[in-house]
Amino acid sequence: MTLALGCIADDYTGASDLANTLTRAGLRTVQTIGIPADDIALPEVDAVVVSLKSRSIEAGLAVSRARAADKWLRGRGAGHVLFKICSTFDSTDAGNIGPVMDALRADCGEGAVLVTPAFPETGRTVYQGNLFVGAVPLNESPLKDHPLNPMHDSNLVRVLARQSRTQIGLVDLATVTRGADAVRARLAELAGQGIGAAIIDAVFDRDLETIGLVAAEHLLSVGASGIGLGLARALVSTGKVKSAAAGGDTSAAVGGAAACLAGSCSQATLKQIAKAEKVMPVLHLDPDRILTGAGESQRALDWAKQRLTDGPVLIASSATPDQVAALQARHGRDAAGHAIEQAMADIAEGLVKSGVRRLVVAGGETSGAVVDRLRIPGFLVGVEIAAGVPVLRAVGAGGDMLLALKSGNFGGPEFFSNALGLMR
Ligand code: ADP
Repeated sequence: MTLALGCIADDYTGASDLANTLTRAGLRTVQTIGIPADDIALPEVDAVVVSLKSRSIEAGLAVSRARAADKWLRGRGAGHVLFKICSTFDSTDAGNIGPVMDALRADCGEGAVLVTPAFPETGRTVYQGNLFVGAVPLNESPLKDHPLNPMHDSNLVRVLARQSRTQIGLVDLATVTRGADAVRARLAELAGQGIGAAIIDAVFDRDLETIGLVAAEHLLSVGASGIGLGLARALVSTGKVKSAAAGGDTSAAVGGAAACLAGSCSQATLKQIAKAEKVMPVLHLDPDRILTGAGESQRALDWAKQRLTDGPVLIASSATPDQVAALQARHGRDAAGHAIEQAMADIAEGLVKSGVRRLVVAGGETSGAVVDRLRIPGFLVGVEIAAGVPVLRAVGAGGDMLLALKSGNFGGPEFFSNALGLMR
């Protein structure tokens, strides 16, 4: 396998967002959970997104993990590596964007690295190096109050300079608008001055395409899913990658039993469960029994096993805000959340042992617990069920399996049926 594009994402959901964007742009893409084992069996793909959890950890650790991921990707032929960060540039003066960029740049010997978190379709634009979130500058957006990485400066040239050992330049919108040659010339000029990275403006998708064309000729870039989109389109338009029909390799049926698990208590998920009650058996778990160790997971598995041969089932811990608050008051918030996540992971493991090969999970943390427990090393990204929620085919694990993992608020009222309809 020779990768056209390698990506290192600093968190799991950002990695999924990027993998989904690359797939929609025609790249056959696998998202791995952590740095893959050397002997992982991967299908033939164009791009791999390695998901790390390194956004808010100590900078030295973030650097060593990113370097290991970079080595793995380049060892599989990746000619370009994108370090995927949040589109709101979540970081502190200590990092981790600057330190990781500096280390990866030193490892590959890049001149000046293009950096942009712009992703216009989600309202993230960059002008004169300043990041806007919708209509407001970053430092006036809700990110100013972020619990881990409060963002008080919208000027990314300054923000990145505080985190990086190299000087940071700017490629402005006027240059981007003049096209790829103008960007190439400006980048060469900055590199000639010893400037190691440049924030590049982007306001429209066409700007990302120009940036992608130039970035793809380099070894390293830093940005969000927007620059991923630009890189993917460049790889397709220059013929380096033959555009694949989205989900081509993921559409083959796996058969086996199907089940849904809901641990999200979001409004959207509560509505989706109510809709699902009309078309499949639904078991509502008793969260108090989970917290008191009363064998609730086993009860759920016994219930499911009696029904799986007749069609899909749904098992939910989800509850209304009042019920959630009452449970948390009785047991503590973290203890309640953790115990229910682990119960969901127990149930997922039992379901798979009972022959479930198609599994839909609602809830971000719930999905993380399930994926970790099932020890799934990675996913091939397939067709979209709802915005931002693709069908996933587990790779590198024993036996074929399809999953859909959605964060709570995603998807319309018929999400569970729609997902199962696309997972054959
Ligand atoms: P979302 O994507 O909607 O945020 P998550 O799975 O990330 O969903 O988070 C939901 C959290 O709520 C999890 O920690 C889960 O274990 C917990 N939870 C699920 N059901 C209940 C319940 N009935 N009472 C309290 N907490 C619950």
